[in-house]
Amino acid sequence: MSRELDELKDLARALKRRVESSDDSDWVCARTGRAGGDQPKAEVFAALSEQIKACRACALGKSRIQAVPGVGSHDARVMFVGEGPGFDEDHQGEPFVGRSGKLLDKIMESIGLSRRTVYIANIVKCHPMVDPGDPEKRGNDRPPSPEEISACRPWLDAQIRAIAPRFLVTLGAVSARVLLGDSTPITRIRGVWREYDPGEGAPRVRLLPTFHPAALLRNPVLKRDVWTDMKSLKEELSQP
Ligand code: SF4
Repeated sequence: MSRELDELKDLARALKRRVESSDDSDWVCARTGRAGGDQPKAEVFAALSEQIKACRACALGKSRIQAVPGVGSHDARVMFVGEGPGFDEDHQGEPFVGRSGKLLDKIMESIGLSRRTVYIANIVKCHPMVDPGDPEKRGNDRPPSPEEISACRPWLDAQIRAIAPRFLVTLGAVSARVLLGDSTPITRIRGVWREYDPGEGAPRVRLLPTFHPAALLRNPVLKRDVWTDMKSLKEELSQP
């Protein structure tokens, strides 16, 4: 209880400092993810990252080692969206840095992309754990709950609005289901182009669901389908 009180006090102090050092428009831009006036995207992202790192909107905020906002270019044409941070991501503060991340790097390289040219984020920004009391235990992962997903969703939408990518690529069943509101199995919707509305009047974004790299590690036969999906993405990227 005293740890939670200390965390709340830290958060209150951080918010107070933030309010004192910024005007209202700064807050609105960070929360909506839209660069207002002459505000550079870098500032919008710095504010977003700061707020995500201070977020305690769901229980994952108490057990995480660190929040994992995302990585990549703020001007990315492609944004990859996974499910949530795991052990390695929670420790390093960057999405897709374990075995799945190395495979994602290779997948991107195969069509001339890299984590410097795309943006990579997750549906939830903090590590969902089976045992929240043991963040040092490997394999202590679970899918995010519906409550955690809905608490965190505004951050992802703000990131999508701020970047305004041409294309979204969802990795795995959870991110496709959440962004499309469609629980059709991933095996049936992967490779089929759809559209996503990030809200706040921002333009709709074309969205391609594909398999999560972790699924490819478990079942290498799926690599063929992901390769087909990446060729489709490359073809779309080549269009003006
Ligand atoms: S998972 Fe999202 S909503 Fe929950 S504490 Fe982390 S940043 Fe906040």
